[in-house]
Amino acid sequence: MSETKEQNWTVDAVLKLYELPFNDLLYQAQTIHRQYFPQSEMQLSTLLNIKDGGCPEDCHYCPQAARYHTGVTAKKLLDPETVRKNAEAAKAAGATRFCMGAAWRELKDRDVPAIANLIQEIKKLGMESCVTLGMLTDSQAEALKNAGLDYYNHNVDTSPEYYQEIITTRTYDDRLQTLNRVRNAGIHVCSGGIIGLGESRHDRAGMLVTLANLDPQPESVPINNLVPIPGTPLENRPPIDPFEFVRTVAIARIMIPKTRVRLSAGRTAMSDEMQALCFLAGANSIHYGQKLLITANPEAKKDRELLDRLGIKIEAIQETRQHCS
Ligand code: SF4
Repeated sequence: MSETKEQNWTVDAVLKLYELPFNDLLYQAQTIHRQYFPQSEMQLSTLLNIKDGGCPEDCHYCPQAARYHTGVTAKKLLDPETVRKNAEAAKAAGATRFCMGAAWRELKDRDVPAIANLIQEIKKLGMESCVTLGMLTDSQAEALKNAGLDYYNHNVDTSPEYYQEIITTRTYDDRLQTLNRVRNAGIHVCSGGIIGLGESRHDRAGMLVTLANLDPQPESVPINNLVPIPGTPLENRPPIDPFEFVRTVAIARIMIPKTRVRLSAGRTAMSDEMQALCFLAGANSIHYGQKLLITANPEAKKDRELLDRLGIKIEAIQETRQHCS
């Protein structure tokens, strides 16, 4: 559901939202959420790392960067049979979208046929497909679209100003250019960021402004809570105030009202109560499964129990298709 954005956001306007009393902000976010998602169902995405480690980039939070000593070893691209089995298990557990991540700076032309094959395996199962493979060229984006790709994930991570504090091996503009190529190829855009990198509230606002001012706005916005990994430059980053994280989710919902706001990395460190607050703030998608790329993720059973305790229904595959058509 590509939607044209309705307003140009400014950092000042977003900072005003951050300054609202917590209850007022959540009320506003939940009101908008109900307007666009009256069923208030949860969409489940399962993420599989299809190519571990050895990445030449220097994203300071990432255990897959070859330059950090995190115990992650470089592996080859997974074979289609292994990927299909994982996707079948994810579907059986209730996931509607299967996301595949490779620790690459950019997709290489030589890998396009193998990735296209994996996308087709996912589509055969009737699931939505998503990949995150680094930077893309126009022709690669078209090839992925032709293979049946539904979503491409490429996070902006943080504000344009703070970006160079976190990644020096590529620029913010590189990021935006790939998002543009994805959009031009007719693939749905999944783009979000990470909270707790050491950024200021101004940076959090700047990241949301970047995402909300994309035209059309992204169909998926993952909001990650930093998982500090030993061996990475951010290993000692202190956790962010949980209410600031919930505020960020609420503001994402207000600014990008029709998107799926996804709780991604960092849920393991969140209490059930904090996750419930995030759902109240407008998060309506979770990464679901035992592992999120390299970091731990709450077990699927525990997630289903939490959703059950909260009376939140899980979105079915057919409904997802209608929603995204
Ligand atoms: S986040 Fe992605 S691009 Fe950055 S180091 Fe990790 S795998 Fe590489």
